[in-house]
Amino acid sequence: MIPEKEQNELKASLTHLKQEAIRFGATDSAVILSGDIRVDDDLAALCNGEYTCPNFGLAASCPPHVGGPGQFRKWQKKSRYSITVKIELPSSVMFSDARKEVMKLLHQGVSGVEKRAIELGFSQSKAFAGGSCKPLFCEENKTCCVVADNLPCRHMDEARPSMSGFGIDVIQLMNTSGWPVVKTKQNKGGPEESSWVAGLILVF
Ligand code: SF4
Repeated sequence: MIPEKEQNELKASLTHLKQEAIRFGATDSAVILSGDIRVDDDLAALCNGEYTCPNFGLAASCPPHVGGPGQFRKWQKKSRYSITVKIELPSSVMFSDARKEVMKLLHQGVSGVEKRAIELGFSQSKAFAGGSCKPLFCEENKTCCVVADNLPCRHMDEARPSMSGFGIDVIQLMNTSGWPVVKTKQNKGGPEESSWVAGLILVF
């Protein structure tokens, strides 16, 4: 049983982290129980499955260079609460060149919340985004310097690993956050179909 004062401080910290996510540009943010995050080995295997991701192996933050579901479950056991974030955007943006900037914003947002969580004393907190960091931050570089030369990441303050490589079930994560994933239909003359990207910060 956590003493009431400690409980109140924890609640205040989590509320602050949610607000930080919004400040960094998220459309919404939620606090969930870390134990409720579903991790599936088969989802992680999709990165190098029948249709291998074109970014497979290119960056230190993607398989096979990350610890995958096994590593995530170890972190998950140490963490009571997590922060989830989503950025909503029109589908026309999601499938345009502007998508890159949105994905960068997602990486920068979750890494910013992770940094703030660490400052608040949750020293092992870990952030996860979506999409490979290689085309987002190091497109102009031939290789990821971490993988190729064992050097520190060029963008360690903003680039974070993709949830996919850890087998995180993102649809379930959205539902657990209170954001049911509904396929919207684009009606002629009606509102434009919307899309979203999501991220996660394990707080511990
Ligand atoms: S150096 Fe570039 S590609 Fe490698 S992990 Fe960092 S951001 Fe990703």
